[in-house]
Amino acid sequence: MTSHFSTIIIGAGAAGMMCAAHAGGDTLVIDHARAPGEKIRISGGGRCNFTNIHAGPDNFISGNPHFAKSALKRYTQWDFIGLVASHGIAWHEKTLGQLFCDDSSKQIVSLLITEMERAGARLALRTAVDSIEKTESGFRLTLSGDRQGEVTCRNLVIATGGLSIPKMGATRFGYDVARQFGIAVTPTRAGLVPFTFDETAMQDFKPMAGVACDARVTTDRTAFEEAMLFTHRGLSGPAVLQASSYWRDGETIRVTLMPGTDFLGKLRAIRMSNGRRDIAAVIADILPRRLGQYMAGLAGVSGNIADYSDRKLQAIADLLSAWTLKPAGTEGYRTAEVTVGGVSTEALSSQTMMARDVPGLYFIGEVVDVTGWLGGYNFQWAWSSGWAAGTAIAAA
Ligand code: FAD
Repeated sequence: MTSHFSTIIIGAGAAGMMCAAHAGGDTLVIDHARAPGEKIRISGGGRCNFTNIHAGPDNFISGNPHFAKSALKRYTQWDFIGLVASHGIAWHEKTLGQLFCDDSSKQIVSLLITEMERAGARLALRTAVDSIEKTESGFRLTLSGDRQGEVTCRNLVIATGGLSIPKMGATRFGYDVARQFGIAVTPTRAGLVPFTFDETAMQDFKPMAGVACDARVTTDRTAFEEAMLFTHRGLSGPAVLQASSYWRDGETIRVTLMPGTDFLGKLRAIRMSNGRRDIAAVIADILPRRLGQYMAGLAGVSGNIADYSDRKLQAIADLLSAWTLKPAGTEGYRTAEVTVGGVSTEALSSQTMMARDVPGLYFIGEVVDVTGWLGGYNFQWAWSSGWAAGTAIAAA
């Protein structure tokens, strides 16, 4: 027997559950995972950075930078903060407008489940979608797993997220559905992900594993100023993760160590007050020690600082404020927080998230070619796009 629903949402993640809470009617949410909202649960170090006070269209990467405007404007960070407050969830601002739960990210999962239940939506976990077919009045799906057989619906919402963390069940499903219906998918790549380097650089960096330093990381397209962290596998930390979303294979990055520091002024002052100090030791003192030692080696300096002319000190200062590095790649989807690229915004209505040429088919959340910065922006996109589709479905 075929069951009929007004709306079927594939993906019980952040966007799918938000949509289910607003879609009204008879809604079924399908997920192949054992539990809903698994990425929410592990997010923000277990405290979920659920939004950002400063969220706005400029904090997103997309083939069409205007696309996210409508949803972000109609369901804002303040709307979600209000929802969090209405569930009695305590939160705090950590840094740069990033809001986290005081207690646990599980509270956000519970909030969404409660909202879905209030709306009467049903959840089918451990269920896979084997096929989707367009019918005259909607869609027919063949399911396997806990919920088996055929189901039909008028509205079909794809909320299966991106490719990051395949171990947690990330799949290409959403992109395949888009292609099945003739909808373009812009090339995808790992975003918010650490950089890796070639074998030689990795050997050089090894002694610095664990060293953190404020830095400005500049790519061909943008610059981010936050902490940078050396790891056993390469470079990480917020400034690097942010830059990675804009970086393309083969490009170099420029690192300004301790932005705002007048390195030339510091070096000249030490030359004046203590000219017999070893120049390498001076650099190791100005920067975190192990990083300073490495940079002194890179600059190829040794001997008394008094022997260094202004021109030579300037060259050292230039290296510290414009250190050029060429990543070999990134750690990829295995550790990436997000996927850059996805279902082309050209094909979707920015008001409703519905495919222009396939009435009743919606794409929301990370599967869409809209990618947020680090800092709560990706969840805000999930809430805003999920709300936009849900309320459009309820109003139709
Ligand atoms: P998801 O939340 O990924 O949900 C997709 C759902 O679809 C999943 O439940 C999945 O099981 C299901 N699914 C996938 N394929 C299928 C299929 N074929 N059949 C059935 N079901 C399927 N963003 C922030 O803003 N703040 C943070 O603190 C933050 N921390 C993060 C930490 C980590 C480690 C990671 C990996 C990401 C983090 N993000 C964070 C990013 C954020 O989690 C995602 O952008 C967001 O979850 C996207 O929501 P979504 O609903 O589109 O997709």
